[in-house]
Amino acid sequence: MRFKDVIGQDEIKSKLVQAYKENRVSHSYLFYGIPGIGKMALAIAFAQYLSCENKEENDSCGVCPSCLKYQKLVHPDLHFVFPYITQGSQNKATSDTYIDLWRPMVNKSPYFSYRDWTNNLQSENKQCMIYAAESESIIKKISLKTYESDYKVMIIWLPEKMNTECANKILKILEEPPLNTVFLLVSNNREDILPTIQSRTQPIKVLGIADEPLKQALVEKYGISGEEANDVVKISNGSFLEARQQLEHDEENEFNFENFISLMRLCYSKNIADTLEFAKNISKLSRERQKSFLNYCLIMVRENFAFNANRNTAYLTREEENFSEKFARFINERNANDFMTILNTAYYQIERNGNSEIIFADTAFNIMRIIRK
Ligand SMILES: [Zn+2]
Repeated sequence: MRFKDVIGQDEIKSKLVQAYKENRVSHSYLFYGIPGIGKMALAIAFAQYLSCENKEENDSCGVCPSCLKYQKLVHPDLHFVFPYITQGSQNKATSDTYIDLWRPMVNKSPYFSYRDWTNNLQSENKQCMIYAAESESIIKKISLKTYESDYKVMIIWLPEKMNTECANKILKILEEPPLNTVFLLVSNNREDILPTIQSRTQPIKVLGIADEPLKQALVEKYGISGEEANDVVKISNGSFLEARQQLEHDEENEFNFENFISLMRLCYSKNIADTLEFAKNISKLSRERQKSFLNYCLIMVRENFAFNANRNTAYLTREEENFSEKFARFINERNANDFMTILNTAYYQIERNGNSEIIFADTAFNIMRIIRK
């Protein structure tokens, strides 16, 4: 990750580069701010820059042996600490136990949420923390001499999740680490970090990404128009993550809309072969997406019933409204309740881990019976 790959945040980038050039790199920084604004990206880019063997004016080179290892996050002088779960027999677990889940996620994008991580861990409802065992591992790694680089860097993601025992054990090394060791703490909730840790770090407040670079990033990464990107930027609080969620939501909505139309057409035409194919395809989605689709169907049935009754289209998009102009008459007082019951039943069965392909086929056959009423 080079500075140029970090979206916006020019002021902080130059502040960090300047600190290096003036030979006043602190031994520990605390990047803090809301999720999705690039704190982790800045930390990795800074670490790569410090370690680069052939620095450009304001960035790492991206091609030296150190940079190549950094691009894959496998440089031996780069260490990560992050919250994780422990299991009964595994209470000696540390971040290293989960590094093979961590590295691919961060490599894919340093813009990730806490939820992205806990999903990866499949932690379900278990508490994710940085446990006491981590302190030994931190001290050991920091005490070893650097392997290849002038700098040894330890990135601690979400220090607010570090338990007190672990924090107390690393206070000393955080205050006086060996020469050329840099701690980069990356926090979403600065106020939850133990004061003893906070006071040993130099805070860097990271603000939301400015509109223009965020817009450019969205246009580049998602191939949307500048106008569309502007709309998303407006409601994203300068957070790339929020923007991404917004776009994914739009995408999901679009997908659900198209499939709702297909399903209704199949049911109306009583095309059995294609209906079975449809059920098969929908069943390949994740269960969350299947539920999202059924939920969308429920909303569409409700809205079309309302549209049919009083032309109220407050909750429909322009495209949905165009579709409803013709479709709404199929949802009426004779079948609206049955529609809801059929879809609710399907939702319930999907939630209970029933066989999706059978459930969606059944649902379609049930709709066939009532759609012409
Ligand atoms: Zn380099």
